[in-house]
Amino acid sequence: MPPKTDDILGVAREQVLGRGVGLDEAQALAILELPNDRVPDALQLAHEVRMRWCGPAVEVEGIVSIKTGGCPEDCHFCSQSGRFQTPVRAVRLDIPSLVEAARQTAETGASEFCLVAAVRGPDERLMAQVGEAVAAIQAEVEINIACSLGILTRAQGEELAALGVHRYNHNLETARSYFPQVVSTHTWEERMDTLALVRELSMEVCCGGILGMGETLEQRAEFAAQLSAIAPDEVPLNFLDPRPGTPFGELPVLETRDALRAIAAFRLALPRTVLRFAGGRELTLGDLGTREGMLGGINAMIVGNYLTTLGRSPEQDLALLTELSMPVKALSETL
Ligand code: SF4
Repeated sequence: MPPKTDDILGVAREQVLGRGVGLDEAQALAILELPNDRVPDALQLAHEVRMRWCGPAVEVEGIVSIKTGGCPEDCHFCSQSGRFQTPVRAVRLDIPSLVEAARQTAETGASEFCLVAAVRGPDERLMAQVGEAVAAIQAEVEINIACSLGILTRAQGEELAALGVHRYNHNLETARSYFPQVVSTHTWEERMDTLALVRELSMEVCCGGILGMGETLEQRAEFAAQLSAIAPDEVPLNFLDPRPGTPFGELPVLETRDALRAIAAFRLALPRTVLRFAGGRELTLGDLGTREGMLGGINAMIVGNYLTTLGRSPEQDLALLTELSMPVKALSETL
């Protein structure tokens, strides 16, 4: 029996804050169904959980696209799919530009720098480029390197682990039951296989998704529970930014209150993970919601530009962390 909305915050206080046991699917749903006037209490509890089980530090990350656009897959939210008419053009960055981007990211105090490619999975040429980029960055910049290159073969996973890639991002994007409405060119299970490989090869697992793609609240709770079962080191939480030309281009933007309820629910389902604000937060949350999220369970953010849309300036985000007395997690804490 799912707990009644009335008791869920009391139950969560004892279970999650007190014992560090994340909410299950039914409990996460009860948080997602809280009335508006209980949302501040849910966020407050999620903040206490984050402070108790993760501490005050905020992980700051930079991302750079090493191959933009022209992807053969059909993820319906994605302006980088080559199957939709979107304004995104295919570009590739050269190695000196990647090193410079890593340097600028490190200067903000960030501890992670993620190389992202819009591909189903890497080909030989991309793996060679990644190898070269990782070596060049490691030689010149002190920062952990993460990669997000899609579905991996075992040999590719082993190659990345041998290069010293610290973390691998591969999002499940949404609940298993909703995934076929979002992607038809590969399966949720194929994504799970790559996540299992990443974990087996001892790279950190970064796995999250996008909320507001037309999934029900039940499916949002299902997704929180499925992520909790994987226990990723990091969960990037995106909110759909409906991009013109994509099949989801006409979907409404998620309501701020719904996004905040989701932040609280995901933190309470995943008490120990790095929960990262990723794309779409400006649109869905604005400045006020960003602040509420940082005080409601979020403990990581991306600085600077996102992959295809412009994020806030790093200065704005770093100033907010200073104001909230949340130190940036040092590189040494992550090694
Ligand atoms: S695999 Fe990645 S880059 Fe390609 S369409 Fe899907 S989300 Fe976009």
